[in-house]
Amino acid sequence: MIVELASPAEARAWCLGARAAGRTLGFVPTMGALHEGHLELVARALRENDVTCASVYVNPLQFNDRADFERYPRDFAADARRLEALGVAMVFTGTLAGFFPGDLRADGTLKPARLLAPGPSAEGLEGAHRPGHFAGMITIVERLFDCVQPTRAYFGQKDYQQTLVVRDLARRQKRPEIVVCPTSRERSGLARSSRNMLLSKSELDRAVCLSRGLKAAEKAWKKGLRDAQALRAILQAEIARPGVEIEYAELRDPERWTASAPQGNMKRAIALVAARVGGVRLIDNMYLSAPPRGS
Ligand code: AMP
Repeated sequence: MIVELASPAEARAWCLGARAAGRTLGFVPTMGALHEGHLELVARALRENDVTCASVYVNPLQFNDRADFERYPRDFAADARRLEALGVAMVFTGTLAGFFPGDLRADGTLKPARLLAPGPSAEGLEGAHRPGHFAGMITIVERLFDCVQPTRAYFGQKDYQQTLVVRDLARRQKRPEIVVCPTSRERSGLARSSRNMLLSKSELDRAVCLSRGLKAAEKAWKKGLRDAQALRAILQAEIARPGVEIEYAELRDPERWTASAPQGNMKRAIALVAARVGGVRLIDNMYLSAPPRGS
């Protein structure tokens, strides 16, 4: 039976016991509405650790758009059942008051001074299009790590820039080990996302152009194209479809994050996209060159 805990304080005590006698503890933080992509992270954590736990918390601090937060899908009971079926030992959720006792303002929001600075990996792309997103994300991830103190924490490549920001935190704090798992995709190529369930059948079909654009850029790279502007043009041409509103379709050097887009010939590249389909914001990315070692 999975242990379901309603607060970070309870989770802290449980995790202390789980880590006793040198046992390794794997941790998968999520916002719930679990899909196959989340479950692949969980399966890997189960393989690589003695005990695995997960969190399900729709973190209000990382939503810069109130409507997006409100319509974000939630089904804790179903999530707990799926985690239990895989063999996860404990799942916990939380509230802002539970994560930050004594640090909320009268209106229930977090004191701004309590927000962490997400660092330079948060600049550009997601950071530019979602002001405050990474500060909100890393502030909660830091609380989660503090409470669980996992041996390893599992994140998805789908949220590439997030993995950079989280790795920076783990490097600063010297723990935990961050494991980044490949993006899990539908047969169509569409990256799995909790937000996909907000899309109609025709919107799902339309959304496939994101991964098509990434694959087109990858194909061009494999054929020898290295010019950033030409690669970007291929990426954007595939994604620019009626009913698809591109926020960005860009390239970066995966070994050296920069806020602004690279120019000229690239030695290594990752392509990243964000677009709205039917008002739902989707993101995806793909390495064009071989993924850096350890990624
Ligand atoms: P979320 O619940 O969307 O915050 O995601 C929780 C974790 O699952 C994050 O580390 C995500 O990057 C990861 N994740 C979400 N979708 C996918 C996917 N399609 N493939 C791999 N990991 C994913």
